[in-house]
Amino acid sequence: MTAAIIDGKAIAADLRARVAAEVRRLSTQHGVTPGLAVVLAGNNEASESYVGSKAKATKEAGMQSFDHRLPESVSQADLLALVKQLNADPAVHGILVQLPLPKQINAQLVLDAIEPAKDVDGFHPVNAGRLASGLSALVPCTPLGCVMLAKTVHPSLAGMDAVVIGRSNIVGKPVTQLLLAENATVTITHSKTRDLPVVCRRADLLVAAIGRPEMVRGDWIKPGATVIDVGINRVPGTNGKSRLVGDVNFAEASQVAGAVTPVPGGVGPMTIACLMVNTVRAACAIAGLPAPGV
Ligand code: NAP
Repeated sequence: MTAAIIDGKAIAADLRARVAAEVRRLSTQHGVTPGLAVVLAGNNEASESYVGSKAKATKEAGMQSFDHRLPESVSQADLLALVKQLNADPAVHGILVQLPLPKQINAQLVLDAIEPAKDVDGFHPVNAGRLASGLSALVPCTPLGCVMLAKTVHPSLAGMDAVVIGRSNIVGKPVTQLLLAENATVTITHSKTRDLPVVCRRADLLVAAIGRPEMVRGDWIKPGATVIDVGINRVPGTNGKSRLVGDVNFAEASQVAGAVTPVPGGVGPMTIACLMVNTVRAACAIAGLPAPGV
């Protein structure tokens, strides 16, 4: 079997265009322009690149982008003071504090300080708890993107056997909750799971969020299954250059799966598109307007 490639780049571009249409509608009909504040502390190269892409996407969607750069040496008190100021700013509907934070900062304290209604990363315990309780919530962007991609292949996930590899608060746990809300039968696995390949082979839908390059082999995959690869791993390539690979061995998976996401160009682009979705959703909720059509 040769798997269909799930084109995350194209699906994300379509989603961003729909967000932009919602932003225009909100602005003309209600005079609301959604605003996203992104806070970057320190000089992490990957974070700088992520933050740049987020600001670009925000502006392209017609939203206001507020960029806050703080030095590596920023104190906990100063960072918390900025979050407090953004919580109170009516032009800001979404707040994202880019992780990782400098070592002197307690990241959980900072995430806990974000107003849950503006928590577009969905990492605040209130949003995590609401998601786990089946209540409306701002949901972490990468898991939201994973489920959207899976639904391009299977409009209904009800009754499917889903296996998630990884139990992080950022990906594994929230994607599990979202799949459960879609009525999939979900197994969550981690580094202590026994016979992981055997568990994975049961899956109609396999989500890999591990952080181990190409760990999932072709013979872990049930023929015809849908595979969502969240991993982003930089490995040595040819000519001394590096290249990006996922947590799934793509060449092997494409011979067995029914559909698979590539890395890059799969889940990655959906993460930023879903951040745009969350910002519009937050803006509507804060303005007391019905939820947008994205
Ligand atoms: P994480 O916090 O390090 O969590 C990794 C999870 O994988 C843990 O639950 C860990 O189990 C499990 N794991 C590690 N080794 C394992 C093994 N040998 N067998 C089974 N499970 C194992 O990572 P994360 O933040 O969830 O990220 C996972 C991957 O997704 C990374 O490659 C990251 O770069 C990528 N990512 C991509 C995006 C995107 O936009 N595409 C966004 C976020 C993350 P334990 O809990 O037992 O330790």
